[in-house]
Amino acid sequence: MRYPFLNSIDANSELMPQIEEAVLRVVRSGRYVGGGEVEAFERSLAQHCHVPHVVGVSNGLDALRLIFRGLILQGKLREGDEVIVPANTYIASVLAVIDAGLTPVFAEPSTETLNLDTSRLDEYLTPRTRALLTVHLYGRACYDESLRNFASRHQLILVEDNAQAIGAEAPVAGQSGYAVTGGLGDAAAFSFYPTKNIGAMGDAGAVATCDPELASIVRALANYGSDRRYHNIYVGYNCRLDPIQAAVLSVKLSAIESANGHRARLADIYLDKIDNPELLLPTKPTVGRHVWHQFVLLADDRDRFRDYLTEHEVGTDVHYATPPHRQPSLRQYSGLQLPVTDSIASRCVSLPITASTTEADAAAIARIINAYHG
Ligand SMILES: *Cc1c(COP(=O)(O)O)cnc(C)c1O
Repeated sequence: MRYPFLNSIDANSELMPQIEEAVLRVVRSGRYVGGGEVEAFERSLAQHCHVPHVVGVSNGLDALRLIFRGLILQGKLREGDEVIVPANTYIASVLAVIDAGLTPVFAEPSTETLNLDTSRLDEYLTPRTRALLTVHLYGRACYDESLRNFASRHQLILVEDNAQAIGAEAPVAGQSGYAVTGGLGDAAAFSFYPTKNIGAMGDAGAVATCDPELASIVRALANYGSDRRYHNIYVGYNCRLDPIQAAVLSVKLSAIESANGHRARLADIYLDKIDNPELLLPTKPTVGRHVWHQFVLLADDRDRFRDYLTEHEVGTDVHYATPPHRQPSLRQYSGLQLPVTDSIASRCVSLPITASTTEADAAAIARIINAYHG
């Protein structure tokens, strides 16, 4: 494939010497769980998203699970409470809600943003609605005035699934600026799965919050429920961030601006150059900052479009062909009417947009796409 969708080695090649040095440093340190590498990364991430507390954890799903369990232990949520979740998301967002004994209520996306349709949130409100899980899907912040007003009017807990949007920015009420995702609500979950905008060399994640009590509950829960050595106050888990991953992530985080900047330039080339009436391109937010975890367009005959691109050596992927409510594991939700979600799932195609995709590649891919007739 001349234009691969993703090549993990090439995508890391620029930082590889520093990554190898960081890994070797941990191997030689003898400290293989916890310690200074984890603490240093937690501090850097806290600084990056302007939140006082960050807890490094094992992965993004665990970050979400720990947040919801923590909110229950705080008494802010109770089992059976309803959490509004976007129907167009990766299934992990929903699994965490169910795992905590909460009830997900699936909300339709907007075809323009592919995120929650924030003008329709009232449709999903019931007397049991207690929280809203906003997912900044594909790198686009989902946090506008309607969402903020809705959450504050109904006193909802706001949790962010920031797995795909580290470094994205959203306008903030009453302030003359923007805030990065991860510090917008009561707590945020990050994933550093290798393909994410900051990828570890394996699984990793983090929880960010302004609430010191929630931070210490999450930290304890992730460490067998232990607040100090051999003293267990919760029925916890082992969901810690590994120091090797933390050391890699510190290297990656130091280069986040250039990594996200590169994605934004590729997206601008696609948006500027792709001109094919058979395809619906994603939109760029008029305010805030999109970090383009994926560049997702909609094609009516997706299979044909993907076959055409494969023939022209352009790798593509689909995020996601089967929405959570259509998965066998969640068949209790299969009767829901979510036509916008289904329609996006049947038409979405993701183009290459990684560190190893060059600007010339993006221009060439745009030319190939412009010559497509469905
Ligand atoms: C990747 C992802 C997760 C899960 O993160 P893992 O680290 O893979 O467990 C959760 N939500 C969204 C939106 C994701 O993209």
